Amino acid sequence: MAVPGNKAPAAPPPGLAETELFATDAYRRDFDATVLEVDREQGRIALARTAFYPGGGGQPHDLGSLRWADGAAPVTKVKRDGGRIWHWLDAPELPGEHAEVFGELDWDRRHLLMRTHTALHILCGVIWTEFRVAVTGGNMDPGKGRLDFPLESMSTELGQRVEQRINEEIGAAREIVVTFLGREVADTDPALIRTSANLIPAEIDPLRVIDIVGLDKQADGGTHVLSTAEVGSVAVTGTESKGKGNKRIRLEVRPPSA
Ligand SMILES: [Zn+2]
Repeated sequence: MAVPGNKAPAAPPPGLAETELFATDAYRRDFDATVLEVDREQGRIALARTAFYPGGGGQPHDLGSLRWADGAAPVTKVKRDGGRIWHWLDAPELPGEHAEVFGELDWDRRHLLMRTHTALHILCGVIWTEFRVAVTGGNMDPGKGRLDFPLESMSTELGQRVEQRINEEIGAAREIVVTFLGREVADTDPALIRTSANLIPAEIDPLRVIDIVGLDKQADGGTHVLSTAEVGSVAVTGTESKGKGNKRIRLEVRPPSA
């Protein structure tokens, strides 16, 4: 909804919501699709649309399965390649071009990745609020992840303080919104500048932005939960110094604390 005096928010790029289903609906766990291209050599197929996240921005690709008229197979890998999203199938025979398939995500794994990804953005927001430094790197697996920050010092106490602050933000049940921002707006947003969104090539317009309202905003292609409350709870499981001005924080997501 446009606010008078403000530019109307940019819509998703044309066709995105119909082809990359995960980009606008992270909760889509199954879908029908037509096979666009078959690559028998590599044992992979491209679909006209998909809910499988192809990996990127630190979030691993999804797993799951595909079924078609005369076959079914686990999806073992998903990746963007040459402008298409390819699904690797563990099957003796791939479905043919134009075949209709039904795809289903390993939802338990995907939802855990959504909670984990959101937890890492909460960590970014907490570190920015407390120390005014931005994340420099990281890694993510289902249920756990780590991020690096240019902090001068690190301690167990600091880790405990960060854990407490993350769980406060989870308790605050902050809303998480996916928006698409035109570059002329995004490149002047202080929250996006501090997370280096302005360094993304200018031809990527609009930017997909994950906004944990009031806490953290960054350009991001990944899938997130709708509220920080859905993360459950977080334990900081490690704090390490990786050298001068580079400190690492590890976390795990857990069920809501009683
Ligand atoms: Zn992210």
